[in-house]
Amino acid sequence: MYVVGLTGGIGSGKTAASDRFQELGIKVVDADVAARVVVEPKRPALKKIEEKFGSSLILGDGSLNRSDLREIIFKDEDSKIWLESLLHPLIAEHILDEIKNSRSAYSILVSPLLFETTQHQMCNRNLLIDVSIETQISRTTARDRVPEEQVKKIISSQMTREDKLAKTDDVIINEGDLNDLIKEVDSMHEKYIQLSNE
Ligand code: ATP
Repeated sequence: MYVVGLTGGIGSGKTAASDRFQELGIKVVDADVAARVVVEPKRPALKKIEEKFGSSLILGDGSLNRSDLREIIFKDEDSKIWLESLLHPLIAEHILDEIKNSRSAYSILVSPLLFETTQHQMCNRNLLIDVSIETQISRTTARDRVPEEQVKKIISSQMTREDKLAKTDDVIINEGDLNDLIKEVDSMHEKYIQLSNE
C-alpha cells in the first residue's frame, strides 16, 4: 500500500487538504483519531495511565481527562517521555491497521506530528501544507475563537516551518483561497496515483 504522510503546523490547512483527498476517493487515516482511540475507556493504555498518575485523571464516564494529562506532561519532561513511549507504538499499530484496510489507490496519513514521531517511516512520501505564521494565526483565531497569544504559544512549541520544509518531499503553499488549495491537492493526487502505480 502506497502511503502519503500529510503534515503542517496548527491552522495550516491539513484538514481542508485531507477533506479534498477524501472527496477524491482516497482513504484518509488521522493520527489524532488514532491517538484518541488508544486511550478510550477499557483500553489497556488507559489503565496504565491511571496507575501512573492516579484515578483523578479518569472522568465520571470512564474517559480520560485530557486537559489535566496535558498539564502534567507540559510541566514534567519525564512524564511526557513515559506517556509517549506508552502511546506512540499503540498509535502506530492502530494507524497500520487502518492503512491495511484501505481499498483506495493510495492512502493519506494526516498527522501534526509526522516528523516528530516515527510516523513518517510508515510513509512512502510526505506532503507538507505550508503557510506563513501570520496566516496560521489569523486562520486559527478565526476558526477557534481563541486569543492570538495562545496560538503563538502553540506555534512556538511545534517544529519550525524550516525544519519541516527540510524533511518533506512535497509542499503545498496554502496562502490562496480554498479553491486554490483544491487545485493544488488535485494535482498532487494525479502525481500520487502515478507514483502508486509504479
Ligand atoms: P489544526 O492543526 O489546528 O488541526 P489544520 O492544519 O487541520 O489545523 P484547517 O482546520 O484545515 O487546519 O484550517 C484552519 C482554518 O483555516 C479552517 O477554518 C479552514 O477552513 C481555514 N482554511 C484552510 N485553508 C484555507 C484557505 N486556503 N483559504 C481560506 N481558509 C482556509
